[in-house]
Amino acid sequence: MRILVVEDELHLSEALSHILKKNNYTVDVSNDGESGLDNALTGIYDVIVLDIMLPKMDGITILKTIRQEGIETPVILLTARGEISDKVKGLDSGADDYLSKPFNTDELLARIRALSRRRGEIVTGNNTIEFGDITLNTSNLLLSGVHGEITLTLKESELLEYLMIHKRIVCSKEQIIEKLWGFESEAEANHVEVYISFLRKKLKFIHSKVQINTVRGVGYTLSEE
Ligand code: CA
Repeated sequence: MRILVVEDELHLSEALSHILKKNNYTVDVSNDGESGLDNALTGIYDVIVLDIMLPKMDGITILKTIRQEGIETPVILLTARGEISDKVKGLDSGADDYLSKPFNTDELLARIRALSRRRGEIVTGNNTIEFGDITLNTSNLLLSGVHGEITLTLKESELLEYLMIHKRIVCSKEQIIEKLWGFESEAEANHVEVYISFLRKKLKFIHSKVQINTVRGVGYTLSEE
C-alpha cells in the first residue's frame, strides 16, 4: 500500500510518515499544494491524506482537479478544528472521509484500513489479504499457506500484495516499479524479475498452488494451479 501525505506542517507530516512507515505502508510526503497535486495525479497511490490549508494550492482545489482527471484514489481530508463548511465542501468535492485536527493516529490508521477495504481488497482483521490457498499479512510480512508459512521481506510483501489486489489482471513491470520504488526511482525491470523469482521460491517453499505467471512482454499475473 502506497500513501501520499500532503501536509505543510513539517512536524505533523514527519510524524505521519513515521507512523505509516512503521505500519508497513510506503509513504511519500508533499509539503505544498502544487507538489501534492503533481504526486496525486500520478494515480499510483492507494490512499491520499490531504490537508486543506496548504501553500500554493489548497486541498479542495487539488481534490477537485484529481477527480476531474478521473483519479479515484480514496482521499482523507485533514480539517482544522471547527471548519464544518470545509468538511461539507470536501465531501462534495469527492473526498471519502475527513479527520479533524488534532487527531489520534490510531484513528487515521483505522480510516485508511476502512478505505482500502472499500476499494475491494480482501482485508480480514489486521491487514491480511487472501488469494487461492495463501494469506499475506502485510503487518508482520508473514505469508501463510496450507502447508506452512514463511516471512517475506518488505519489498516482497509489497509486490505480492500488489499482485493479489489486482488478482488476475496482468501487472506490468513499469506499474510494479512505480508502486514499489516510486516513479522517480532508478529501479529497473530486472529488480522486479529478481523479486518475482524470490517470491516464486517462497510460494514453492510453502507448497502453495498459487503461481506467478509471466505474460511475455507484458508483465505478471497470479493464478491458482
Ligand atoms: Ca496546513
